Order: sequence, then C-alpha cells, then structure tokens
Amino acid sequence: MPQDADRNPAAPELFALVAAASLSSSQLSPAPLFDCQSCGACCSYSAEWPRFSTEDDAQLDRIPAKYVAANESGMRCEGVRCSALSGEVGKSTACGIYEVRPDVCRACMPGDDDCLMARRAHGLPTA
Ligand code: SF4
Ligand code: SF4
Repeated sequence: MPQDADRNPAAPELFALVAAASLSSSQLSPAPLFDCQSCGACCSYSAEWPRFSTEDDAQLDRIPAKYVAANESGMRCEGVRCSALSGEVGKSTACGIYEVRPDVCRACMPGDDDCLMARRAHGLPTA
C-alpha cells in the first residue's frame, strides 16, 4: 500500500487533497478520513485482490515480478495479504511498489465502501 499517506498505505498527496476537499465545503459532512500509513487493511483483505484491470503492458512491466501472481492476474498474495505490503496492519504499513501500484489500489480511497469493509474486517474504526 501506498508509502505516503493516503489511499492505501500510501498516498500522502491524496490524503492531503481529500482533507482539503472535505474542509472546503461547510455544507458537506467531512468524509471519514483515515491515515493509510497506519492502516493497510485494504492491502490485506483478500487473496483475490488486487487484480490487474486497466493497466497497459508498460505499467505492468514496472511491477517487480516477485510481487506478481503466478498466473499474472494480479498481485501475489500471502494468504489474504498482498506481498508488496510491509508493516503491521492497523499500526504502520507501506506499499513496496507505491509508485507503480495497480489501478485498483489507486482507486481505493480512505472512507469509501471498500475501505470501510476492509477496516471493519480488521476491527479498525470506521468513523
Ligand atoms: S500493491 Fe499491494 S501493498 Fe501496494 S497498494 Fe496495492 S494492495 Fe497495497
Ligand atoms: S483500508 Fe482505507 S484507510 Fe486503510 S489503507 Fe486502505 S484506503 Fe487507506
């Protein structure tokens, strides 16, 4: 997951953008924000995730082969945990391939349905 702080362990810039967006409107309830670098739940949720989807060959070629599943359908998992994830879920985590992570990893945002489902599964707060 993401090494910076936002969406999965990993995107500080995104985290900052989401926070800024939430604070910019007093008419909207701020979405729950979580620090991905102290979470990692969505990177350790299912052996079927993350799968490759809309990446082109050039994108996929940048992902180190050691992290790719044998059938090349997605990231290699150890149990339900993505092999690129380091650290302890719910405490401190990082994505070993943050800059070249799959598109589904980029799409998962703190506070969205998938995020909340993963956090719930790990017994982490969802609000
Ligand atoms: S590649 Fe793995 S560790 Fe990185 S963001 Fe995706 S699921 Fe998380
Ligand atoms: S489950 Fe949510 S808060 Fe946790 S790493 Fe994924 S996107 Fe971030």
